[in-house]
Amino acid sequence: MSFDTLGLRAELLRAVSDQGYTEPTPIQKKAIPVILQGKDVMAGAQTGTGKTAGFTLPLLQRLSERPLPKGKRPVRTLVLTPTRELAAQVGESVETYGRHLHLRSAVVFGGVKINPQIEKLRRGVDVLVATPGRLLDHVSQKTVDLSQVEILVLDEADRMLDMGFIHDIRKVLALLPDNSQRQNLLFSATFSREIKELAHRLLNQPELIEVAQRNTTAERIAQVVHPVDKRRKRELLSHLIGSRNWRQVLVFTRTKHGANRLAQQLEKDGLTAAAIHGNKSQGARTRALAGFKKGDVRVLVATDIAARGLDIDQLPHVVNFELPNVPEDYVHRIGRTGRAGNEGEAVSLVCVDEHKLLRDIERLLKKPVPSVVLEGYEPDPSIKAEPIQNGRGGKGGRSGKPGGGRGRGGRGQGRSAGPANGNRNAKPRQQRSRRRASTAA
Ligand code: AMP
Repeated sequence: MSFDTLGLRAELLRAVSDQGYTEPTPIQKKAIPVILQGKDVMAGAQTGTGKTAGFTLPLLQRLSERPLPKGKRPVRTLVLTPTRELAAQVGESVETYGRHLHLRSAVVFGGVKINPQIEKLRRGVDVLVATPGRLLDHVSQKTVDLSQVEILVLDEADRMLDMGFIHDIRKVLALLPDNSQRQNLLFSATFSREIKELAHRLLNQPELIEVAQRNTTAERIAQVVHPVDKRRKRELLSHLIGSRNWRQVLVFTRTKHGANRLAQQLEKDGLTAAAIHGNKSQGARTRALAGFKKGDVRVLVATDIAARGLDIDQLPHVVNFELPNVPEDYVHRIGRTGRAGNEGEAVSLVCVDEHKLLRDIERLLKKPVPSVVLEGYEPDPSIKAEPIQNGRGGKGGRSGKPGGGRGRGGRGQGRSAGPANGNRNAKPRQQRSRRRASTAA
């Protein structure tokens, strides 16, 4: 099936073919015709399924078909996302797919100066992509008017709720025209009771669209565990990158400090590396990501929180330098590889301290991850397991202090874009910690 049959106009088909896409992904096949008909949609789709084009293409078409309002262009489409990175990526998609149309778009998120955003909004935009906190900053400064929004998209709605954004979302909804006057699209990877409640309030007779979840698509990612002593992990990582000639590797650590230290050590080993985490300024994160995408940076070392919403095309290798404390994070991490139908490889370096974490992951996956001991890196059997000194209540992590790890603290400055400890099961505390941090993203 090609894109031509979905009912998209020539300018959008041209933009799609400029991108080199030949076939719509399952979510695109299902969502595009329904959204073009003007229906509300509740879609179950994770990052990596092509969902962004799935809503961006039809919404651009609908906007372009309507006469342009006279005078300053009002915001007619609002896309809310949980993180800065995702907002930037969706904004890029809007530009990319809309390049042959005459629509204007803007992206607003915290952690960067507000004035250039105000300037852009003043000139008028058709599509606004925003994180909830910074959007409300604009609302309170009266630099954005949401009273003429015709299409609302909540992207990664489950993440937004996990991150404690529900109050901000409610505030934003109250500023929009009545929901019967708008088209509402909700995308979420999971459907908890809270998401269903939100959907019920937001959507009018929605069309339900489901595609394969990442938990099942993860099956096409080759996974392997290499048992190794903790103190030899860095050496093994450098060896793997060098000997297998990996050119683009995303490496996960548990802590921000660990990410920094590892990036520095890899640099000493002669590998170009950068760390990306919640204490880095938005500028530093954007630069690191751009360098990685371009191939100037070979190894990007990230914490779970910083990696949320990272969209890197066809990432071939993901390495768990340390296993995550929360098994679901393993699935999210390895989901960074093998996107949109490409093969991927996920390698985990596991020391004796992490055996329990590995068992929890395997229980979630409902299958063991193949384990391969590499010659020269055999674990020393005399080393006994020690408690992991980070994460919840431990040293080096950010948990235990609501709002801890917010960096320089100021409103919208260098704060993390995610829950305090990346533990999605610890909702009440996360939500507390996000109360004031709702502008963080
Ligand atoms: P998303 O789920 O929206 O984050 O998209 C995941 C990745 O798939 C992005 O890097 C897109 O550029 C890519 N992509 C989206 N649609 C297609 C398609 N039809 N064919 C190939 N790649 C696509």
